[in-house]
Amino acid sequence: MASSALGGLLVIRRCCIALLVGANAVLVALLVAAPGSAHAASVFYSVRWDLDRNVRYYFDPPVPDAFRPEINDGFDTWSDLVDGHAPNFNPGGEEQLSDPFGCEGTTGIFYRNLANDDYGNALAVTTGCADYTQSNLIKFKMVFDSHPSLGPGIDWYVGDGNVPDNRWDLQSIATHEAGHAAGSYGGGHHGHFLGATLCSGSDRQTLCVGSADSVGTKYLRTLEEHDLHTLEDAYETSCPPLCKAAPH
Ligand SMILES: [Zn+2]
Ligand SMILES: [Zn+2]
Repeated sequence: MASSALGGLLVIRRCCIALLVGANAVLVALLVAAPGSAHAASVFYSVRWDLDRNVRYYFDPPVPDAFRPEINDGFDTWSDLVDGHAPNFNPGGEEQLSDPFGCEGTTGIFYRNLANDDYGNALAVTTGCADYTQSNLIKFKMVFDSHPSLGPGIDWYVGDGNVPDNRWDLQSIATHEAGHAAGSYGGGHHGHFLGATLCSGSDRQTLCVGSADSVGTKYLRTLEEHDLHTLEDAYETSCPPLCKAAPH
């Protein structure tokens, strides 16, 4: 994760899900000892949206039309949880966006060749922007890779059905990234869960670190126990003093 001040006002936090087809097994093996139970909101959601926020996002024109409903599905999965205290994400249509990895301009979704942006192994990158003085999130940028290939035949699957072999499920990756947009950027895991217990099999946590064995699956479309309890802690019990309740 990269953090920096921008104009003295903003903190930039980035997160990506990586393909890491060759290296991921090593990475997971090295980090498998990470505890599965210590998912403090103060670590995973060290910056948060104000309670009860409506967060509108826009699509940069290059985002293919067919991608947009799948990306919206990913956001819908996270929207308005924790009795509505967690952010409610709403698509606002198409708009010319700027600064895909920074905090200038409007919250939105980009479509770029991430290899040309020095994110060669990433399927998507989400950057959160926080108010530097109050540590509350105010916008995000999310970039989907236009060339998600680490070998012949690997591409996006864009749809709601079963995912063919050698395709990355766009809805799954969008759901994962929407969890970062909700505020899961923090800690040494970059907002990711680690370890074989939480991150293997079809019911793995959506916010698990990227793994090559989810290619050809829709494992990440649904939120699981640890995705949910961490979000609940962030936007309910543990929220003060970081979060400010909106007036009712
Ligand atoms: Zn991630
Ligand atoms: Zn947990």
